[in-house]
Amino acid sequence: MGILEAGHAIVHGKIVEGLQLPFPRDEYYETVIIPGFSDAHMHPQVVDAGLDGGRVWSNSYEWIEERRLRVDEAGVRSDLELSARLARAVYKRALLEGVTLVAVTGNVEANVRAWLSLSIAPRAVFLPTIMKRKGWPTLSRAEMLLKKLRGMLDDGFARVGVFIHSIRLAGPDQLYQAVSRARELGGLVGLHLGEGVPEAAEYFRITGGVPLGVRVVAVHCISDPDPRAYGLLCVSCPATNLILYRRTRSSLRGVTSFGSDWPLLIGTVARHLPLIARVFPGFLDGTFRRATIGGYRDYGIPHGGDLVAYDVPPERIPESFHAPKLVMVSNRIAVHEGRLVESGESLTEVERSIRALIREAIEAHPAPGAPLRGDPIEEASRALQAIASSCTPGAARRGCRSPAGL
Ligand SMILES: [Zn+2]
Repeated sequence: MGILEAGHAIVHGKIVEGLQLPFPRDEYYETVIIPGFSDAHMHPQVVDAGLDGGRVWSNSYEWIEERRLRVDEAGVRSDLELSARLARAVYKRALLEGVTLVAVTGNVEANVRAWLSLSIAPRAVFLPTIMKRKGWPTLSRAEMLLKKLRGMLDDGFARVGVFIHSIRLAGPDQLYQAVSRARELGGLVGLHLGEGVPEAAEYFRITGGVPLGVRVVAVHCISDPDPRAYGLLCVSCPATNLILYRRTRSSLRGVTSFGSDWPLLIGTVARHLPLIARVFPGFLDGTFRRATIGGYRDYGIPHGGDLVAYDVPPERIPESFHAPKLVMVSNRIAVHEGRLVESGESLTEVERSIRALIREAIEAHPAPGAPLRGDPIEEASRALQAIASSCTPGAARRGCRSPAGL
């Protein structure tokens, strides 16, 4: 038995000097983060964002109705085999970027199948998306799926719940049902809320609040001053908020964790940390806390033995993205020397396979009508880079101007 030694550790958001932990051999790292990053909201089957030349949308409903996608989303999600390969690539990317907990929406069968196919995966929260649209399940269909899956997942590494797409697209009736029956459905309800339109009061009017013993996790919550007033937790997704709406929440008050939304296109929360630190400067402890233990607390997931280790000092981590050297989930080594232990793949290799998978998805399930040119990854990364360089902290909260040439 050896010792894992670190110059600094970031434990639940607090930077402390010096750390020693038992480890199979002697190893030294500059920084260890405990637990690893939590990505509290992601869609593993989103292969295109329909950014339409950098248009600024006023809210999520407008974006969903008017965006022009290269891909038929219902087609992708009904393709169980492809959806599972997309999710598997997301989990690998998450581990390589330092994420030890993911909360995934979308096709639950595919997401669980992919998770079970890895010998070491991030801890996971599975939330099937419920929406009144062709190709998406109703609450009762999702309940049947969850019943089938729950037995396989009852090991402390995963939880299930339901994800009400949004009040308008899933309907107030399904929101009411999901919240009032949440305990039978896994105790967790997620929903997109306040993404350009204030909705927290409407949530309260429909549901009467949050029942005891249930966690309701609102995602985005840009447009409501403080979701805690309604008993809601709030996952902020600053990267996609800024890409789509050029604005994000005005402060971290009320934000309990962060999500990446589109991990295939723009990477996970660990990659967005520099952007978040720039938009909310001076709150490094709070930013790290929300980005790591925050998601675990929101979903009630244990974190013992989860850590991420770097060969750079702590102050460098929020400056720019650094791939971790070591990632552990429940004391098991998932990533060592920047490569997945299971497959030997590096982050660059996984990113290359994601690119190929996205091409495959668009070719196999093209959107009806004239296909759009261009690469969804390039488009989304360009948008994110332009935001990062043009959005000053104050402007990001009030609303950034649209960067030219997007
Ligand atoms: Zn989302």
